Amino acid sequence: MPKKNEIKANAAGRSGSKSGIVAIAGLPNVGKSTLLNTLLGQKLSIVSRKAQTTRQQVLGILTGEDYQIVFLDTPGVIQPRDKLQEFMTQASFKAVSGADLVIVMVEATERDIIADRQLLERISRVDVPRLLTINKVDLVKKPALLPLIAEYADTGLFEEILPISALKGDGLDELLRAVVERLPEGPFLYSEDQLATQPIRFFAAELIRETLYELLHDELPYATTVLVEDFKERGGNKIYIKAIIYTERDSQKKIIIGRKGEQLKRIGRTARAKIEDFVESGVYLDLWVKVRQKWRKNDFFLKTVGYSRRNL
Ligand code: GDP
Ligand code: MG
Repeated sequence: MPKKNEIKANAAGRSGSKSGIVAIAGLPNVGKSTLLNTLLGQKLSIVSRKAQTTRQQVLGILTGEDYQIVFLDTPGVIQPRDKLQEFMTQASFKAVSGADLVIVMVEATERDIIADRQLLERISRVDVPRLLTINKVDLVKKPALLPLIAEYADTGLFEEILPISALKGDGLDELLRAVVERLPEGPFLYSEDQLATQPIRFFAAELIRETLYELLHDELPYATTVLVEDFKERGGNKIYIKAIIYTERDSQKKIIIGRKGEQLKRIGRTARAKIEDFVESGVYLDLWVKVRQKWRKNDFFLKTVGYSRRNL
C-alpha cells in the first residue's frame, strides 16, 4: 500500500496539476460524512459551513501538492415520494453525471439488499468511472469480506473495489491513490488565495442553476448553464453578482426571458432570495441570458464554467 508521500511523489512526476469533481453516492448512514471528515481532517482546505443549503452539495475540497479534489455529496433519495424529492434525485443524478469520478459507498455490515440494488441500478446508468468503497470493515472479519467483494466485482460496474474504515482511517491512502490517478489534468477549480469568495461564486451559480430547474420545464434546464462573471463585495450592504445564463439556442433564450422579461425577473427574484439566504447578506443580482451554441461540446467553455469535459 503506497504511503501518502509516495502518492505525492507520483503526482509530482506529471506535468501540471490535476483537479476534478468527485461525487460520493451511497445510502444514508453508510459513512459518507465520516469519510470526508477523516480525509479533510488531515488536509483540510475548506468545508462549507452551509453546504446543507444546496442540493448539489459541495462537501469539501481536498487540496494536495498538485491535485485538488472537489467532493460532492449526492442526496440519496432512491424512491422519490414528491416533487421536491424527485427534483433532488434528478439533481443528484445530474451531479453524478457531471462529475469526473463517482465513489459509491456501501457498508460491510448492514445491508438493505433492495435499496442496494436500486442504488447500483441508478449508478449503472451514469457514464462516469466508478470506484466502490466497502466501509466499516473494522466491524467484520476479513474472511467475511471476500464474498462481498466478489459479489460487487461480479456486477462489473466498478474499476476498483476498496475496503475501508472511514472511522479508523484504514484504506484511505489507497482510496486517495485510486482517486488522484483518475483525476483529469487541469488547473485547480478553487485557487488557494481565494478561499473566501470562490465557494460563494460557485454556490451562487449553483443556486441560480437550481432555480432554473425549479422554474423551467422539460429539458430546457439541461440546455443551460450559469457563469458568475463578477462578484463584488461593495462597501455598502449588498453584494453585487453578475451572472450569465447560457443557453444553446435563441428560442431557449426567449423562453427564459419570457414575455416582457417576466420569467427572467421571476428567476432572478427566486435565485436572489436563495443566495441572500446563503451568504446572509443583501445581494444585487445582475442576471443575463446569452446564447452559446453547443456549449455542452466546447471544452474550453466547460472549463470556464467549472465542468470537466467528460460526460456532459
Ligand atoms: P452518512 O449518512 O453516509 O454520511 O453516514 P455517517 O458518516 O453519518 O455515518 C453513520 C454512522 O456510521 C456513524 O455513527 C458513524 O460513526 C458510523 N461509521 C462511519 N464510518 C464507520 C467506520 O468505518 N466504522 C465504524 N465502525 N463506524 C462507522
Ligand atoms: Mg452524512
